[in-house]
Parts: sequence; C-alpha cells; structure tokens
Amino acid sequence: MAKKDNRVNIQLECQSCRKSGLPGVARYCSEKNKKTTTARLEIKKYCKFERKHTTFKEIK
Ligand SMILES: [Zn+2]
Repeated sequence: MAKKDNRVNIQLECQSCRKSGLPGVARYCSEKNKKTTTARLEIKKYCKFERKHTTFKEIK
C-alpha cells in the first residue's frame, strides 16, 4: 500500500511580483514531499504577469 501522507499541498508565490508592490501576485499551486523537502521550496517558474521566469517561493 502506497503511503501518501508525505505529500502536502503548497503555494508558490512570485518573489518579483511581491517586491514590485503590484496588487496581483502570481501564484502556483503545487505539492511537495515534506519528508524529502524539509526546507522551503524555491523554484524558477514562468510568471504570467511579468512574462518572464522568476523565483517562486513557498508560502504558508
Ligand atoms: Zn511575478
């Protein structure tokens, strides 16, 4: 039986949008394995607001 307990849903938020002070902040829904990824997730993703790749960070 596969255990799925370690997968948790997370939200990734565009750091660049956040700093810019714009009302909209690009976000992605994702999930991670909390057992293998204990630190905050930081990933490069395409920001649809800025139309470029930026750093997205996990938020709670
Ligand atoms: Zn952005």
